[in-house]
Amino acid sequence: MKNNDSPAIQKLIELFSQFPTIGPRTAGRFVFHLLKAPKQEIDNLVAAIINLRSRVRLCEFCFNPFEPSPDKGQENKLCEICSNPLRQKSLLCITASETDLNSIEKTKKYKGIYFILGGTVSALKKTDLEKLRINELESRIKNRPEIQEIILAMSATTEGEATGLYLERFLKPFNKKITRLGRGLPVGGELEYADEETISSALEARK
Ligand SMILES: [Zn+2]
Repeated sequence: MKNNDSPAIQKLIELFSQFPTIGPRTAGRFVFHLLKAPKQEIDNLVAAIINLRSRVRLCEFCFNPFEPSPDKGQENKLCEICSNPLRQKSLLCITASETDLNSIEKTKKYKGIYFILGGTVSALKKTDLEKLRINELESRIKNRPEIQEIILAMSATTEGEATGLYLERFLKPFNKKITRLGRGLPVGGELEYADEETISSALEARK
């Protein structure tokens, strides 16, 4: 697949290589796929990317991406979950990513609200910490005295464990009940790949 010096091709390979889990080889395949694709397909892709940025907003409370509905006007700053009056505002579930939030939502068992931390920390890397929305988390908890329980919904991986421990220490001074997902998630298991049944029981068995 090593080829040409076309700057246009090199540039796009470089851009795709920045995507999670995509290395230069796969990025190259994407580019050559696009070179063969009909113009309409390329136009659709470009339009979809532009729409993503113009239509999707991040929730001002939990950072969940959502599409504001035009009829709600300027007040439309919270996602469907945060603005749903039926969700329990006393229960806050912290997830590492949007994908993990979606996995928990799919179980339909969780009735509280969320906060997306934006990543995990490995025990060794201090730079990881700077990427997390720790300051935002702190301000959410301070501004919402109604929060009683905080669920740390981390994957059962080394990084998930490290992040859970870090959060536990960080949240201690706020004097809230802090729980973690219970048994059920296999050791080393990522939340994003667990099935709904497993996540449901891990939620119920939280401690
Ligand atoms: Zn939200």
